Amino acid sequence: FNVPLPVNEPVKSYAPGSKEREELKKTYHELREQQLDIPMYIGSEEVRTNNKQPFTPPHDHQRVIAHYHYGDASHVEQAIDAALAAREQWAAMPWESRAAIFLKAADLLAGPFRARMNAATMLGQSKNAFQAEIDAACEMIDFFRFNVKYMTEIYKMQPESLPGMWNRLEHRPLEGFVFALTPFNFTSIAANLPAAPALMGNVVVWKPANTQIYSAKVIMELFKAAGLPDGVINLVYVDGPTAGDVVFKNRHFAGIHFTGSTGVFNHIWKTIGEHLNTYRNYPRIVGETGGKDFIVAHKSANAKEVAVAISRGAFEYQGQKCSAASRAYIPSNIWEEVKGYVVEDLKSFKMGDPEDFSNFVNAVIDEKSFDKLARYIDAAKKDDSVEIIAGGNYDKSKGYFIEPTIIVAQDPQYVTMCEELFGPVLTLHVYDADKFEETLEMVDETSPYGLTGAIFSNDRYAIEVATKKLSHAAGNFYINDKPTGAVVGQQPFGGSRASGTNDKAGSMLNLLRWTTARTIKETF
Ligand code: GLU
Repeated sequence: FNVPLPVNEPVKSYAPGSKEREELKKTYHELREQQLDIPMYIGSEEVRTNNKQPFTPPHDHQRVIAHYHYGDASHVEQAIDAALAAREQWAAMPWESRAAIFLKAADLLAGPFRARMNAATMLGQSKNAFQAEIDAACEMIDFFRFNVKYMTEIYKMQPESLPGMWNRLEHRPLEGFVFALTPFNFTSIAANLPAAPALMGNVVVWKPANTQIYSAKVIMELFKAAGLPDGVINLVYVDGPTAGDVVFKNRHFAGIHFTGSTGVFNHIWKTIGEHLNTYRNYPRIVGETGGKDFIVAHKSANAKEVAVAISRGAFEYQGQKCSAASRAYIPSNIWEEVKGYVVEDLKSFKMGDPEDFSNFVNAVIDEKSFDKLARYIDAAKKDDSVEIIAGGNYDKSKGYFIEPTIIVAQDPQYVTMCEELFGPVLTLHVYDADKFEETLEMVDETSPYGLTGAIFSNDRYAIEVATKKLSHAAGNFYINDKPTGAVVGQQPFGGSRASGTNDKAGSMLNLLRWTTARTIKETF
């Protein structure tokens, strides 16, 4: 079990004038002009169809930068067939050889692929350079390297033996194929959802969000460059219901690795339940879904730290992180100070294309998301019980731009205090500084989710009370830090309640779901 000890990939700063910045800019401009033709990847084939769809950047929606070949049910069937055909050889491959492929992918991404993966993410998903770097480069590299280590820890798990008896656990891939259904908001997650099961010896059918297809192509290029055999990961572009209709009726469906909305996940779970008699095995259902992530400040908190957590935790990548803070509870004694800092901080956030590295805020992902957010903002403007203290403007003429917006609500049950919006809108409630415990109860009851949350306090007793009372309110709980930015190997990520199955991405707990063990007892 000799594998390289992973360390987290250092984050490059892309400082003005640096070589890495120039290279990233150049790659961004080259990619933008290239008009990529994006096929599906099924087995050894690059599949092209008559249904070519334009791909446009969210921040520049009239500019077509690529076309992708959209598929139908027959392509999902083909992808399943290709996966199953590759299964035997892949499952029989020594784990060291599987590990070598993903370790090589990590090294290639740390080197020659880095600028291309980051530029594709900036361009295709409207991320600024720094947000792209921590996702498409560092987190993806970390997933690949740390997963190799976790894999060996799983294989090392063995039972006791006695003289004359050798007991062992054979950790095998699942019997069938895994379906990876991946989100737009993290390129690293889009890569890890198929990669983690594949590393454990599984074959995968991968359907990305349409809005992430551009960087999905680069991920596939990376897997191929690292030597991943044909058919192990098959990439198809179809609409969700079409994919589901084929995948969930297949006898060999063995598991789903999902990140996306709670509504879709619930639907998937029910569909799987309806077809349970079809399958050879109970499928593994692993999902990370929505969140209504909180920041709670205690009266002892440092106002400036709280303000920074709000502006960073709520508005990095336009609030489109499952972990993004979207509701805050601030005690009356520090409110004016917090407000002053936050409003000032947000003034320094420039908005525009990721091409200009000084733009902190880029566009939200698509028109549907833009329209939804605009509706909530408009409703808040008309409502006397709430006040917009920052942002509130939006414009979709060139790209889907929405200013970082803070709504202050007197009613802690105001609609945007409870519902997930998935965008740059945070709702804040100012509470009586002496009602900390009541406020914690409210935080726990206000939303059905349990993904991330943060408590700010300089009082150890208050921290203890919050940690206990909010035990299931957040799978990732931060003390005196913003609730985003979990690092692989440091903060295993995931939540429960309506936020998912809490199988902690970037940890052994996740990889355990992609194996099925056989116990062997041998006597001599
Ligand atoms: N792991 C990311 C973070 O901690 C969030 C992942 C997500 O949005 O699904 O910020």
